[in-house]
Order: sequence, then C-alpha cells, then structure tokens
Amino acid sequence: MKTVYVDNNATTAIAPEVLEVMQPYFTSDYFNPSSMYDAARSSADAIESARKIVAHCLGGIDPDQILFTGSATESNNAALFGTVQANPERRHVITTAIEHPSVLEIGKELERRGMEVTFLPVDHNGELVLDDYIRALRSDTLMVSIMMANNETGVCYPVAEMARIAKETNAQIVVHTDATQALGKLPVDLQSDLQHVDLLSFSGHKIHAPKGVGVLFVRRGTRWRPFILGGHQEKGRRAGTENVPYIVGLAKACELAVAGVDEEQTRVRALRDHLQNTLVECIPAVEVNGLKATVRLPNTLNLAVHGIEGEAILFELSRHGICASSGSACTSGTLDPSHVLKAMQVPFTAIHGSLRISLSRYNNGSDIERIITVLPVIIARLRKLSPYWDDSRNCLKL
Ligand code: PMP
Repeated sequence: MKTVYVDNNATTAIAPEVLEVMQPYFTSDYFNPSSMYDAARSSADAIESARKIVAHCLGGIDPDQILFTGSATESNNAALFGTVQANPERRHVITTAIEHPSVLEIGKELERRGMEVTFLPVDHNGELVLDDYIRALRSDTLMVSIMMANNETGVCYPVAEMARIAKETNAQIVVHTDATQALGKLPVDLQSDLQHVDLLSFSGHKIHAPKGVGVLFVRRGTRWRPFILGGHQEKGRRAGTENVPYIVGLAKACELAVAGVDEEQTRVRALRDHLQNTLVECIPAVEVNGLKATVRLPNTLNLAVHGIEGEAILFELSRHGICASSGSACTSGTLDPSHVLKAMQVPFTAIHGSLRISLSRYNNGSDIERIITVLPVIIARLRKLSPYWDDSRNCLKL
C-alpha cells in the first residue's frame, strides 16, 4: 500500500534536487569551512553562495542580513531574546494567542521575567482584529511578533500592513515575523511589501530541505544581539560550526519553493478545494476551521469533526496508509486541545475531533481520491461507537 503523506505542515520530503546538491558536502567536501587550507575553501564558498541564493529568494536583499541557524525554533528564540537583550529599557511586547510554541512560550517566559506581553486574541475565523492591534501599540512597545501563516489552520495574517502600522506609530518598534509556513506558498519579499519587517524566521524542513537547519533574517540597523555565543561563525552572530550540506540544501529548497508559489496557488489549491468540498458535502457535522479567513494557505485543510476524537481518526487513517495530523497535541497522556482552536473558540464537541490535512507539490489527484474514499467511512464507524453521536439522526446527542 502506497503511503499517502498529507502532513506537510509538520515536515516535508526532501526534494531530489536538494539531496543532489547536498551530497558532495557529506563526502568529498566535508571540511570545516573555518579551516585555513585550500581544500576547505569550497565549503566556505558554498555557504556564501547559499546565503546569496536565500537573499535573492527573499526579494533580492543584501546577503549579509541572512544568518543560518539550526531550526525555526532557534530563529524565533534568537529573534525575540536577541531583541530583548539589545533593548533593556523597553518592556512591552506584542504577539498573538495563535503563534507557534517557539514564539508563544517565549512570550510567557518574558512575562515571568517581568516584561509586559500582549497576546492578541483572534475571532472565530482565526483572524486578528486590526483595531485590537492598533490599541495595543504603546510608546514603550519594544517589538511585535506576528506569524505570516498559522501551521494548524493555514490562516494568514496581514504582516506587511501590521509592520507598516508599527513603524508609523514608533519607528523604534522592532517587527518580527515567523514565515515558516508561508515561504513557498505565499510571496515573501523583504524589499517590497515586507520592507518594514526587521526580523524573519523559517526553517528548511517545511520546504523540502532537511530538518535541523533554519534562517534568521536580521535587517541591517536592527537593534539586536546574538543569541548563541562562542564562535566567530556568521560574523559572530550565530556561533557554532556551520552545517554546510544542510545550508546548501536549504538554499536549493528556497529556490524551488519560490519558483513553486504559483503551483501551490493553483494546482495544490485545486486539490485542497476538491478535497474540502467533497468531505464537507458527504460527511455530516463537519466544518472547516478558518474557512472564512480573508487569506488561507492553499495547501491546508483543518476539519472540525464533531463528536469523535481526532486521535482515533488519525489512528484509523494510519492503518490505511494515510499520514495526517490532529489539531490537538497529545501531551504526557492527557489530551490537550490545540491552543489555536481554543483561541478561535471552536466548540468543545469539535475541538477534540479536529483533523489537519496539509498537502505539498508531491501530492496528486489519486492521493485525494484515497482520502475521499477512506475518511467518510472511518468517521461514520467511529461515530457509531461514540456516546456523543446519534446515528439515526446524523447529529450530536446534546
Ligand atoms: N513556526 C511555525 C509556524 C512552525 O510551523 C514550526 C514547525 N512546526 C516552527 C516554527 C518550528 O520549526 P522547527 O521545526 O524548524 O523548529
């Protein structure tokens, strides 16, 4: 049975083109890029070419503003803690209730350290209310950190406009965005619409490069201090021997991602829409979380399935060779509903039954047909067993 992989917001398959360009840096060109002998020069040069490629992909910016890191989690930590360290006199940070934990948890940590953090709420569609944001901006606001697209629902946020508003309010406010889910699906241009963004994070493994490599963009002139110390690498801004093959792979993946935005917006979107429309039509009591948002990622479908557990659906899908994910994370034996769906006030009867299907350019029509064949049957069977479901009336026992 061929695996149908539809969990691309969790991680992606490495593109063959990416694997190919990485290979020599595992075998013949394995040198430490900081070594003085001639042989190591190709490794050092490979990093600089990768930096130029990434800078080109982000709107043709100066490559010196690109730092290679170990993950988007690291980039987010470096962005937030690095800004706080460089500006101890400013004590207020604005972020949202629906950020990835690698931003959200830093917000909570900053609160524990005595800073004031505003976690902007979202509405039922998963969207931010611009007026809430404008009201939250203060004269002592240090930074704003707002993701471009949410990993669970695919809802996208107007970061360009919010960055412009922040700078108009106070040019000193540092603006960070987590672009991990946006790159390759939306245009990401730091020279035009995102010109007011100072810091931007993403990682390789969401765009068909390996896990364990990321990027932090730091705009020239931003008041920011390095987060990882202890070496001269990346001009002292991110210490540690560079992961040459992964950096080379990440640059290739960026090129492919930027070239693939049109395909995501057309072919992948059409696959997602067909799946979404068919499932909503043939399964009773399902809704699409984030459906009414102004902009949603073209590859993401987050379904609210009333009356059953998302984990049970995943288990059954997995038995049929389909890899998806639930909106809720199962932590240490307790079922913790997703903070994103909670923030959207998804009803209790659906929050535990949420299912996330996230596509990539490697999915095709037959993957979608497999899901359409299998998923409604699984849901019907699980509902038969559910004490919350009335099968005779196709609705919840409330
Ligand atoms: N931000 C977002 C929006 C993400 O989706 C993820 C990964 N799920 C991360 C940050 C963290 O990325 P990494 O796995 O590279 O640390």
